[in-house]
Amino acid sequence: MAFGWIGEQAELRRRAGLVRTLRPRAADTPLLDLASNDYLGLARHPEVTEGAARAARTWGGGATGSRLVTGTTELHTALERELADFCGFEAALVFSSGYAANLAAVTALAPHGSLIVSDAGNHASLIDGCRLARGGTRVAAHADPDAVRKALDGHDGPAVMVSDTVFSVDGDAAPLTALAAACREHGAGLVLDDAHGLGVLGGGRGAPHAAGLAGADDVVATVTLSKSLGSQGGAVLGPARVVEHLVNVARTFIFDTGLAPAAAGAALSALRLLRREPARAARAGEVARELHGRLTAAGLHAVRPDAAVVSVRAPSPEQAVRWAADCRAAGLSVGCFRPPSVPDGISRLRLTARADLSGAEIERAVQVVGETRP
Ligand code: PMP
Repeated sequence: MAFGWIGEQAELRRRAGLVRTLRPRAADTPLLDLASNDYLGLARHPEVTEGAARAARTWGGGATGSRLVTGTTELHTALERELADFCGFEAALVFSSGYAANLAAVTALAPHGSLIVSDAGNHASLIDGCRLARGGTRVAAHADPDAVRKALDGHDGPAVMVSDTVFSVDGDAAPLTALAAACREHGAGLVLDDAHGLGVLGGGRGAPHAAGLAGADDVVATVTLSKSLGSQGGAVLGPARVVEHLVNVARTFIFDTGLAPAAAGAALSALRLLRREPARAARAGEVARELHGRLTAAGLHAVRPDAAVVSVRAPSPEQAVRWAADCRAAGLSVGCFRPPSVPDGISRLRLTARADLSGAEIERAVQVVGETRP
């Protein structure tokens, strides 16, 4: 029977207690949210929603075409200019998602005969970029500049190292200065996915800026507009020659409809707000450290956060799934990472610190996580 094997896979998932289900979120949910990526609490900020509404009224419900045909509005170019300027890069190119931006950056910068060195903890979109690229990939041990050096040693031809700046599972930061040094010794480029750094690190300007790497001619960053900027979409930031190259060769740029004007408008409003109120960025980090401190004091195994993601170890995948469900039943929404989303087999709850969480909300979250522990 066609697709018969799907039923067998579904049965295995069911038996392992690892079935994924969609839970529609009500607009007025009473749940305390520590699961979303809305780090600065901007997704529903009136300036951001008005930015989206104004853009939709002016430009329409969709971009109407690919970026090279009709899908580039003045709003897209304004967003690219201001994003590049804020993060400290020469130029930026906006995509319909961070996923598409990562596919573009990796595939366009790793031609046939080139080498990609990829951190073992990288996000799925960077991994997929490596799979699609014409260059060969070597996976380097997590956050290990010496492993990067070893992987680059002896390679003749273009090379690039790709890494998250803040890893989405454990919330730990990559050693950017040491990675850049390793790459420079070998004349390799560095592609940094700053999805979790933008809006949180470096006064909001992101991890490459904080590490003094923004604007360097051998560094490219990718960001998403869907986390701290409370919108949707992604971008590649880098030297103008890299952006021009992407416009000409990146398939997820050329063959994809441009980012919806409402998303571009929301992101631009959020960016301007962040620029005006950089304290929001620092607050997200403070909330994360406070969460970590209280979870640790409650005897839970939480990983020390470098940005806004706080990871709490669970004893097994099944217990992680049940723990998240128990939190939910107690009024707290948390993320749950378990295999196959995590390659190391370690399951965890993932709590995201939002800049707009109150002290009482932080306390309640820690209490619920503690009381429901397996
Ligand atoms: N990179 C990382 C590290 C991410 O966590 C995500 C989002 N989950 C992405 C890229 C993809 O971004 P987007 O959701 O905008 O496609």
